[in-house]
Amino acid sequence: MDIHEYQAKEVLSNFGVEVPPGALAYSPEQAAYRAREMGGERWVVKAQIHAGGRGLAGGVKVCNSDVEIQEVTENMFGRRLVTHQTGPEGKGIYRVYVEAAVPIDREIYLGFVLDRTSQRVMIVASAEGGMEIEDISADRPDSIVRATVEPAVGLQEFQCREIAFKLGIDAGMVQQMVRTLQGCFRAFTELDATMVEINPLVITGDNRILALDAKMTFDDNALFRHPQISELRDKSQEDPRESRAADRGLSYVGLDGNIGCIVNGAGLAMATMDTIMLAGGEPANFLDIGGGATPERVAKAFRLVLSDAKVEAILVNIFAGINRCDWVAEGVVKALREVEVNVPVIVRLAGTNVEEGQKILAESGLPLIRATTLVEAAERAVGAWQSDLDQSTKVRAV
Ligand code: GDP
Ligand code: MN
Repeated sequence: MDIHEYQAKEVLSNFGVEVPPGALAYSPEQAAYRAREMGGERWVVKAQIHAGGRGLAGGVKVCNSDVEIQEVTENMFGRRLVTHQTGPEGKGIYRVYVEAAVPIDREIYLGFVLDRTSQRVMIVASAEGGMEIEDISADRPDSIVRATVEPAVGLQEFQCREIAFKLGIDAGMVQQMVRTLQGCFRAFTELDATMVEINPLVITGDNRILALDAKMTFDDNALFRHPQISELRDKSQEDPRESRAADRGLSYVGLDGNIGCIVNGAGLAMATMDTIMLAGGEPANFLDIGGGATPERVAKAFRLVLSDAKVEAILVNIFAGINRCDWVAEGVVKALREVEVNVPVIVRLAGTNVEEGQKILAESGLPLIRATTLVEAAERAVGAWQSDLDQSTKVRAV
C-alpha cells in the first residue's frame, strides 16, 4: 500500500526525520487559509497523488502569496495529474499540501528498498538528488552509493557516517545525517515498509537536513498489525477493480485482456495466465482466491471478475489439495445461481474428489464448459471468446 507525501512525512518525523512545516488542504480556499495560518511569505503547494514526477508535470508550485496559492490550486483540485509514473490516465488531485518554502543548498537522493539478491534492506543514495534521479542512475551508475543492512545488528552508526562521507556531507552535519538515516531505517523495519524514498533530502542554507519529499510503501500482508498505517489508505488513488478486491480479501491485479481468471494459488494463477496467452488469448486479471475456496469466496470472485466490462469469458481453474473439488464445484454452482453471468464459463478442476466435483457441475444444469487439463481449459476459453459468444459455446458440456 502506498501513502501520500504528507502522510509519509508525518510518519518519518515521528522517527526523528526533519521535515518543513506544512498543512493539508481539501479546497483552494482552505489551501490559502492554511498558508495564512502557517505564516511566512513563500510556500510550496504540492498535489498529493500516489506517484512521483509531480514537479515536472506541474503538480509542485512555489507561491508568494495566499492569493497565488488559491489561483494555483484552483487549477489542481479535481484535475487528473499525468506524470511519468501514473500512466496515461493520471491520478486525481483531491488534496494538496502547503509547505513553508525552504532555501535549498543541495539536493540528495535517499532510498531504502528491499534488495532481493542480498535479502537485505538496501540503502541507495546519490549526491545528486532531485527530479532527474532516473537520468543519473542511467548515465552515471557509479555515482550511486549503496549499503546493505545486516539484519542481526541493524543499521550501524559507522555505516551511516560512511554514507554521509560518500555523499560529501560537511563534518558538522554528519550527526544529523546519521539521525536521518537511522530514523528512516527504524520506520522501514518497525512499520513493515517495503520502500522509503526521500527525493530530495535537502541541505538548507542554514545547515539543516530536511526531507522535502517523502514516499513510503507498506507490505499489504503486514498491514493488519499496523492499524494506524492501514488507516492512511486512500482509495481515490487505486485502480477501482483492485480496491474492490482488497476490500473482499482477494488478491487481484487488473490487466488489459478479456478472459477473466478465477484461480486458487498465486503460482497456479500465473501459470493459468501464461497458458491463456499461449492459447492465443489475453487474461483480464490475475486473481488468487486463496486456499479455502468456499462458495462465498467463489461468488465474490465471480462478481469481482464480472465487474470488469471487458471480460468476455471466465476460466475457473482450481487445484484442490487441502480443499476438495466437490466443495469448490458446489461453490461454483451456488455462485452461478446467485450472480448473473452472461459470458461463457470454463471450469477445470483437479485434485481431491475430482470425480464428485465433475458430477456436481454436470448435474447442475448450468451451461458450463468443463475441461480436464489446463491446456484444454485455456484453449476452450480462448475458443469460447473467439466464437464471439456464439450460443453454441454455452451448451452444457457432457
Ligand atoms: P516529485 O516531482 O513528485 O518528486 O515532487 P517533489 O516533492 O520532489 O518536488 C519537486 C521539486 O520541487 C523538488 O525536487 C524541489 O527541487 C522542488 N521543491 C519542493 N519543495 C521545495 C521548497 O520548499 N523550496 C524549493 N525551493 N523547492 C522545492
Ligand atoms: Mn521527489
